[in-house]
Amino acid sequence: MAQLSDDCFAFGGPLLRVDDAVALVRERLAPVAGVGELPLLAGLGKVLAADVVAPIDVPAFDNSAVDGYAVRFDDLHPEADTTLPVQGRVAAGQRLGVPVAPGVAVRIFTGAPMPPGLDTVMMQEDAVLGDGTVTLRPGLKRGANARAAGEDVARGSVALPAGRVLRPQDIGLAASLGLTSLPLRQALRVAVFSTGDELAEPGGERAPQAIYDSNRFTLQGLLAKLGCAVTDLGILRDSRDAIGAALAAAAPSHDLILTSGGVSTGEEDHVKAAVEAHGSLHFWRLAIKPGRPVALGQVGNTPFVGLPGNPVAVMVTFLRLVRPLVRRLQGAEPEAVPAFPVRAAFAYRKKKDRREYVRARLVRATDGTWEAHKSGREGAGILSSLVEADGLVELGEEVTRVAPGDTIDYLSLGLLI
Ligand code: AMP
Ligand code: MG
Repeated sequence: MAQLSDDCFAFGGPLLRVDDAVALVRERLAPVAGVGELPLLAGLGKVLAADVVAPIDVPAFDNSAVDGYAVRFDDLHPEADTTLPVQGRVAAGQRLGVPVAPGVAVRIFTGAPMPPGLDTVMMQEDAVLGDGTVTLRPGLKRGANARAAGEDVARGSVALPAGRVLRPQDIGLAASLGLTSLPLRQALRVAVFSTGDELAEPGGERAPQAIYDSNRFTLQGLLAKLGCAVTDLGILRDSRDAIGAALAAAAPSHDLILTSGGVSTGEEDHVKAAVEAHGSLHFWRLAIKPGRPVALGQVGNTPFVGLPGNPVAVMVTFLRLVRPLVRRLQGAEPEAVPAFPVRAAFAYRKKKDRREYVRARLVRATDGTWEAHKSGREGAGILSSLVEADGLVELGEEVTRVAPGDTIDYLSLGLLI
């Protein structure tokens, strides 16, 4: 359960910059997701709850990186060929039982333990075999083609840090340490609903003046990608009491409540009154387009985020504000999603002091570099433009215009979703 300070989203300032909003969320919220020990593969996409300290060296023993001949470096002539008798053979999974006498080479294969005393391996392609001997050319470095114990992960080191969102290679690394389970944060429980008298359920009846609810599906997809356990509370009508009752019912069993629509300050926007009846609500005048306003609050002890209704605004505010908020509640380490510098293939004008996101598609220019093209039409309601987009161009607060050829920041949706 979230331990929120009283009125933790209180914010009386003017327009709030996106980075400041994210910093504020980090500061005022603490991880709430519980912890449990789960099998390795259950950890994919989940958040690691504690540092994983390596119980062994990986590799656990010095071994050969190639198929070839293991030798003692000091037996090699520095400037001329060296011919040594080949005594013994060791393949991966085997061990040489006998000590190796000075002045001999051992046939060795990739992954096989280095025979005691031998420190260097000549690749078989570079060795000339004789009758029971091998001739090695000069120029080999001490320790060449041998892998040292612990060179991948040293025993006692932090192999995976707490807060890591686990990827396949992280799971593989844990397996390489011999682990079978990991301390994981339990899935964050998020309740989602849409508000609006104009919304119809896909598959259900739709009055001529109604539109199908899309935000709830976009949001559930985004939350699922973040590893959340989502409860779908459906469509709520534009009624203070109906919204209030649903919020009050959902709050005790969820870590976060997320809605879209009904948070403008029009008279048909009832979310504000409903949240205030059961907790507190603050409008954050986020300096972001598309996306204003975003409402943050709490229902009982559960954080509440009310996103705007327009589908593109939903996506942009989710990615830039809700995503870091979810990661914080999950106990994840802060993430830095890189913005890549690319060339703009479009012109654009914007207001100073707010951050703007332009839906974009990368196209390879004839000179081989990447150019960002505007995808689809503008407008916070044009969801198809996001479907065509592979990224968002992020125009900072200071920018007022973009000309074709300018270098701009491109955020890949593949890294954000
Ligand atoms: P609102 O913020 O409630 O004033 O809604 C702004 C715009 O977004 C209106 O055109 C709504 O019809 C639209 N909208 C609100 N909720 C949804 C939704 N769940 N799916 C699609 N469009 C929506
Ligand atoms: Mg509405």
